[in-house]
Amino acid sequence: MLAKIAVKNVSKNFVSDKAVYVLPVVDDISLEVESGKFLAIIGPSGCGKSTLMKMLTGFERPDTGHIVVDGKPHDRPDRNSILISQHGSVFPWMTVRRNLMFGLDHDDRKSAELADHYAELVGLKGFENAYPHELSGGMLKRVEIARALVVKPEILYMDEPFSALDALTNLKMRKELLRILDEERHTVVLITHDVEEAIHLADRIIVLSKRPARIQASFDVSFQHPRKLSSPEAQKLKESILRELGL
Ligand code: ADP
Ligand code: MG
Repeated sequence: MLAKIAVKNVSKNFVSDKAVYVLPVVDDISLEVESGKFLAIIGPSGCGKSTLMKMLTGFERPDTGHIVVDGKPHDRPDRNSILISQHGSVFPWMTVRRNLMFGLDHDDRKSAELADHYAELVGLKGFENAYPHELSGGMLKRVEIARALVVKPEILYMDEPFSALDALTNLKMRKELLRILDEERHTVVLITHDVEEAIHLADRIIVLSKRPARIQASFDVSFQHPRKLSSPEAQKLKESILRELGL
């Protein structure tokens, strides 16, 4: 079967101002993601995860190797590569509904209908006219997820999307994400440094080395949802991943 996403021997160096030094950041990474699957990528801080994500979404070009989506080279951002990042990208001057309508090119009525549908899907019914400053951190994340989904991307890319949330909200958002993915199948690539988050969500987990990021290990997560993180198999997997991370 044709992979949805194929990363082929991708490497990336950053060159400092005036070329004083060269920083190798991603080193010969190859991986594939099948359609409808959820891949989590874990790695130590500063190893090159976000750089890899920028190449996946087309915001950065690899120095060598290439990214292929649906069999075609993917080298620039498009509507199929929606990224939810750790920093958030909700427009503060727009209401929830307007944020969700942004980027849709239907007429206003149809866009507003779609916006309201996705607001409801992520649990924001009743807040369509609220402004971002009136929302909690968890609610803002919901806006981001809704805004990503409303354009119906085939692939959802997430770079530490929940890392700024408190532990309880984080757990709640994971459960919501699983519920939404149950309703609308997407191919997902999640970058995280949270081993439990990866085990909770993913079908497969790739562990990256320290910078320059190389693939160090790969684990299939085959147990059924809803997953119990306290189960012996989850604990065993967690230990194996932590060992790979040198912890
Ligand atoms: P991670 O997301 O795993 O924490 P990043 O991919 O953000 O790591 O960064 C990896 C390394 O690349 C860091 O040392 C960072 O300083 C460097 N880096 C990231 N982006 C740039 C850039 N645009 N120019 C120069 N160096 C960069
Ligand atoms: Mg990062």
